[in-house]
Amino acid sequence: MAKPNLVVFDFDGTLYPFRPYDSEQTLVLSHAKTKGPLFRLRARLFVRADQRGAFNNPQFYKRYEKMIRDVDPVLLEKTAGDLAALLGKEDVQAIRDLTEIADLAILSLGTENLAELFLEELGLRDEFFLIKAKRIHWKKNKAYLQVNIGEAEGKRANLEALRETYENIVAIGDGPTDIPMLRAADLGLLLIWGAESSPHPFELHASLPSACERAKEFLTS
Ligand SMILES: [Mg+2]
Repeated sequence: MAKPNLVVFDFDGTLYPFRPYDSEQTLVLSHAKTKGPLFRLRARLFVRADQRGAFNNPQFYKRYEKMIRDVDPVLLEKTAGDLAALLGKEDVQAIRDLTEIADLAILSLGTENLAELFLEELGLRDEFFLIKAKRIHWKKNKAYLQVNIGEAEGKRANLEALRETYENIVAIGDGPTDIPMLRAADLGLLLIWGAESSPHPFELHASLPSACERAKEFLTS
């Protein structure tokens, strides 16, 4: 943490595109393939309901924790690897270029382990000094969740706390839960992969290189 500039990213939908599932839905569905038909059905219903926006955050966490109770670390690695494969060389380079002028962090409502393994796969793990979201731990082979950020408001509060250290903060996110954090930043950017119009009143970028370039321009001007 030596630089005066910080770029905060959301994880799901921002650092990789939904195709069509997010990282947690992908993990649940992959894990379900190793289980019986009833569990597979429950997993599909859970993901469908989540995509409809049926759960608030605490409701989601409780159900997600149940769905991944028997998941093993190897499947997390595989899931993160599949997500990392959605990025091109130019995406990875765009993130790496940012580190010349800014420290990087992830504030997310997703899963920290998945974000870390994703970055590791891309060779970017050391580029991010902070990754805060929910963490999967294991105890006697059973997975459980530790919620380090539980609501959109938590992202904003964590960003505000970093103001003590940084003069300039750019936040980049894709969805409604990013809005408070985008508002709290000096520059908030929406990154929605391939989008042509913005659902929220923030500057829209349709690719990672475009958003990173804009962040760089803002922080060096
Ligand atoms: Mg997101």
